[in-house]
Amino acid sequence: MKTIIEPFKIKSVEPIRFTTKEERTKLIKDAGYNPFMLRADDVLIDLLTDSGTSAMSSKQWAGIMDGDESYAGSKSFYRFEEAVKKITDMQYIIPTHQGRAAEKILFTIEGGKGKYFPNNTHFDTTRANIEFTGAEAVDILNETGKHPEIRADFKGNMDVQKLDEFINETGKENIPLCMLTITNNSGGGQPVSMQNIREVKEVCNKYGIPLFIDACRFAENAWFIKKREPGFENKSVLQIAQEMFSYADGVTMSAKKDAFANIGGFLAMNNSSLALKCRNLLIVTEGFPTYGGLAGRDLEAVAQGLEEILDEHYLQYRIRSIEYLGEKLVAAGVPIIEPPGGHAIYLDAKRFLSNVPPEQFPGQSIVAELYTVGGIRSVEIGSVMFGKYDKNGSLIPPPMELVRLAIPRRVYTQSHIDYVLEIILEVFNNRRRLKGYKIVYEAPMLRHFTARFEPFN
Ligand SMILES: *Cc1c(COP(=O)(O)O)cnc(C)c1O
Repeated sequence: MKTIIEPFKIKSVEPIRFTTKEERTKLIKDAGYNPFMLRADDVLIDLLTDSGTSAMSSKQWAGIMDGDESYAGSKSFYRFEEAVKKITDMQYIIPTHQGRAAEKILFTIEGGKGKYFPNNTHFDTTRANIEFTGAEAVDILNETGKHPEIRADFKGNMDVQKLDEFINETGKENIPLCMLTITNNSGGGQPVSMQNIREVKEVCNKYGIPLFIDACRFAENAWFIKKREPGFENKSVLQIAQEMFSYADGVTMSAKKDAFANIGGFLAMNNSSLALKCRNLLIVTEGFPTYGGLAGRDLEAVAQGLEEILDEHYLQYRIRSIEYLGEKLVAAGVPIIEPPGGHAIYLDAKRFLSNVPPEQFPGQSIVAELYTVGGIRSVEIGSVMFGKYDKNGSLIPPPMELVRLAIPRRVYTQSHIDYVLEIILEVFNNRRRLKGYKIVYEAPMLRHFTARFEPFN
C-alpha cells in the first residue's frame, strides 16, 4: 500500500503567525483559559472545529463569482436545491444560514413543554434548541459508544431496544420526531451503520414517528459504511448516502461540515404541511425561501461542495488522515476514543488526567495546556459543555470527558499533523503537572462558548 496523499494541489496559502510560549501563557490567561475567547491570529494550528473552516476549491470560488444574487428565484438556489435532492431525495429543500437555524425552525414548530426528542447523541446546538422550547433532548446511544477504549465499527449507533422502550414509556404522542446524528459528533465522530438506520426507522414506523437525520457528516458516515459494513464495499458513496436518506422523513444539515462551505445549512423534508410551516417561519427569521439567510454565492459554494464531498479519493484521504494521528497517539499510550472517528481525534481526558476529577474539568485543563505548549486550539467536550447541576448545585457530569481536536477539511498537511502529535505527546508526558480548573463565569445556556476559568493552585 502506497502513502495516501492529499488529493489536491495548493493554489492559495495563508501565513500562520508564530507566538512564543511566554506570549501564549499570558494570552490564554487573559482569555479566561477558554480558547473560544482567543484571537485566531494568536493560534498556530486551529483544531477548534471543522465547521466552516474548510479550504474551498477553485470551483467553489468560481461558483462564488457566478452566484446569482436575485432576491427570489435565484438560479443559485435551483442549483443548490438540485444538489441536495440528488443526495437526499427529499421533496422540500429549505436553505438556512447554518445548521442551528434549521434546528431552531424545526423545534420551534415541533418542540414545546412535554415533548421529547430522542437521538443517538444530540449535538450541543440541537440540544439547546430543543431545551429552549421547554422540550427534552434524550440521548439513547448504544453502550459501546460510551466507552472510549472499546474498539467497534459503529459506535454511533442508537440503542434500538432502549429507543423502543423509551417511546413506550413516554408515549408516541409526546415524541414529534426521532433523530439520528451521522456521524455522531458529540460521541466521537463515530459512524452509524446502515443496519442501525434501518432498525431505528422500523421502530419509528411502528409508532408512526418521523425520523430526521442530522446529516452534517453524511459523506464521512457513508465512507465508513462502505469500508466496514458487509454488502456495501462495491456501492458508491453516493448510492450509500442515498440509501441512508431513503429511511429518513427529514434532514437538518450544517453545510459548514461535509459541504466544504464557510457558511450555510438546510432543512429538508417530505411532509408538505410541515414544510409550509417551516417556510413561513423561515421568512420571519432567515429570509425568503430561495435564499434562507444566505447569499446566492453561498448557495453555489454549498452546491459545488456537495458534489466534491462524494469524491472517494477525498474521503479515503480524509478518514486516513484522522486515523494516522490516532494510530500514533495510541502507539504512544495516549488514551483516545478508539477507533478514531471521521473528523476529529478525541482525547479521553478521564484517563489522560486521571488525577483531576470531572468537577475540576480535566478536559479544560488539557485544552489550556495544548495551547500554552504548542499554540494548538482544541475544545473540551465534557462537563464544561454538557455538565448539568442537580438541586444542590453539584455537577452531574456527562458519560465522557473529552478533548476534541477537529481537523478542518483540506487545510492542514501531514507535517502540521506531525507537529500536533509532538505537542500532544509533550503534554501527555508532563500530565502530572496539570491542575484542575474552576468556572468563574458562565452563561445560562451553551456556557462553554463564553465561560471563564481559573486554575486551582
Ligand atoms: C455543527 C453541527 C450542528 C450545527 O450546525 P451549525 O452550522 O454550527 O449551526 C448540528 N449538528 C451537528 C452534528 C453538528 O456537527
